[in-house]
Amino acid sequence: MTLKKTFRLCLILFLGLLVMILMQIVPSRSQVADVPAQDTQTQQPMDPRETREIVRYEPVLPEVHFSTDGVAQGDFFAIYIDKTTLLDEVYATSNLTKNRIRFYSFKEGMAAFIPVSYNLKPDIYSISLRIFRDDLLLQDENIPLTVIPKQFVTQYLKVTAAQNAIRTSDRQYDDWAAFARGRAVTAPIPLWEEDFIMPVAGKITTEFGLTRYVNNANPTRHSGLDIAAPKGTPVKATNSGRVTLAQSLYVPGNTVIIDHGLNILSNYYHLDKIYVKEGDEVKKGDIIGAVGSTGFSTGPHLHWTMTVGTVSVSPWQILEKNPLELLNLSELQ
Ligand SMILES: [Zn+2]
Repeated sequence: MTLKKTFRLCLILFLGLLVMILMQIVPSRSQVADVPAQDTQTQQPMDPRETREIVRYEPVLPEVHFSTDGVAQGDFFAIYIDKTTLLDEVYATSNLTKNRIRFYSFKEGMAAFIPVSYNLKPDIYSISLRIFRDDLLLQDENIPLTVIPKQFVTQYLKVTAAQNAIRTSDRQYDDWAAFARGRAVTAPIPLWEEDFIMPVAGKITTEFGLTRYVNNANPTRHSGLDIAAPKGTPVKATNSGRVTLAQSLYVPGNTVIIDHGLNILSNYYHLDKIYVKEGDEVKKGDIIGAVGSTGFSTGPHLHWTMTVGTVSVSPWQILEKNPLELLNLSELQ
């Protein structure tokens, strides 16, 4: 073998060896196809939420505002809880009332109107407010409220035995059931517009809250104002709302109840005629009936009661200013 032949043989062997080594290192095409696709592609850009850092913040807590810290017997007051969220719930109880205290979403918070019955003794009472956000108890407050004494006059009324039989009849229990039904429904928004008006012009013959002895016995309180007016005088809705009761009852005679929303209702008794029916929407000043003397009545007059829920409150307070002003919204930030 010549040197040239030997060199050529060595070169062929060397190249063969090199090809074998390379085949071990570089995977075949079929092997590449087995590798998962994403490994061979460019990575997706990372979602920014994956790298966001935790931000700690103080939650905005509700703020409780009372319209006053002292309320006269027979008046009402408001609580406004500002800066609430949709998750917030208020559980309120008080020795002022056996009724549930209802809060309604209003503007940026929640509002409740609370009546102070003329039967409550002047004293310091308290309202417990527990404010929840979902399951968390955010606030637990006990807020005092003073009930201020108010002078109510006493009336001694003489009526015939037949008239007295009306007011002492067991049929008044049906009246109470009807009242309860008429006052159980209220809109969760104010239906009234601006100020309330006198439903009829005339002389006030019996004041709100007066203690009345009929034939010198069984004193009762007078739940509203008696306004004397000739039979047939139109009776206006004291404000806009929805009629929740329009029917003939025994002691109050022909009766209309209008819901003005947020638990505020007006009640009209002894009507000669009723011009509305349950479910009617009325505007402030609409004629809802005519003055009469039906039920327990000694002459034509309108008996007008204002209630917050089922509790009678002073019509004078309602006439004095729009209840929404009690929320003092203009002073809140
Ligand atoms: Zn009356």
